[in-house]
Amino acid sequence: EVAFLNGRFLPLADATVSIEDRGFQFGDGVYEVIRTYRGRPFEVAAHLARLDRSARAIQLHQPYPEARWSQLILEGIERAAYPESKIYLQVTRGAAPRDHSYAADLVPTVVMTVRELQPIAAAVKSRGVAAMTTEDIRWGRCDVKSINLLANVLARQQAKQTGVYETILVKDGSVTEGSVSNVVVVRDGSLITAPEGPRILSGVTRAVVLRLARDHGVAVHERYPSQGDLFAAEEVFLTGTTVEVLGVVEIDGKTVGSGQPGRLTNRIAEWFSAQTV
Ligand code: PMP
Repeated sequence: EVAFLNGRFLPLADATVSIEDRGFQFGDGVYEVIRTYRGRPFEVAAHLARLDRSARAIQLHQPYPEARWSQLILEGIERAAYPESKIYLQVTRGAAPRDHSYAADLVPTVVMTVRELQPIAAAVKSRGVAAMTTEDIRWGRCDVKSINLLANVLARQQAKQTGVYETILVKDGSVTEGSVSNVVVVRDGSLITAPEGPRILSGVTRAVVLRLARDHGVAVHERYPSQGDLFAAEEVFLTGTTVEVLGVVEIDGKTVGSGQPGRLTNRIAEWFSAQTV
């Protein structure tokens, strides 16, 4: 593994921060996860723009300009030398004696790790995955990619305990997104997915997929799918950096469509993979 902390690369075991870091004590920070295809980082500009937006939204001074991050990411990938890498970036507000409010002059803690990416098995992609629904108990700024992930952690663990792949979050009857992915429902041949806004993370993969769909003449409705839409859907799929485009074939024990990843899902997955070469 490769680790980077506050300006230098160092062995992961030596990359330690203070117990008074506000990331540790308050979850006061933001992050990104980027992956490589053929050793090259995918959609870096979109990820870095989102990191900037997340940081601004919480008045955190994100100290590295895009050019510095881009160069660091490339260096990290090169040092790690994996076939494919998963790059984790995190900026917290820094270390200070514990107090909810903070001083303006804190020095942010900047972290990057590069680990080997294990792609989702081809068999899982072709069979699709099962999911469950649960109440979306998250805060009102899910567009901020905050390291405060407790609600997502609990939702993901529920999936694990239930023996399904992902948890689909439902807020007041509306499908927002997954615990680690965005959710797209197919009805009457068009895509329905939650609109960008404070209730979801603006997924980088979501944006690529919606653009590809529109370019290929597929109608896209950015509105919240209802729970009814979910269960009446012809197809459902997830999008995300790690899940890419992944068909959901069962939700809460009920079969989605034919019980296999749908035709449109498969076509979109193909369009998407053409973007990654
Ligand atoms: N929603 C949530 C809650 C996530 O954690 C992720 C993964 N970062 C996504 C959506 C998908 O976003 P992206 O396509 O940018 O990875």
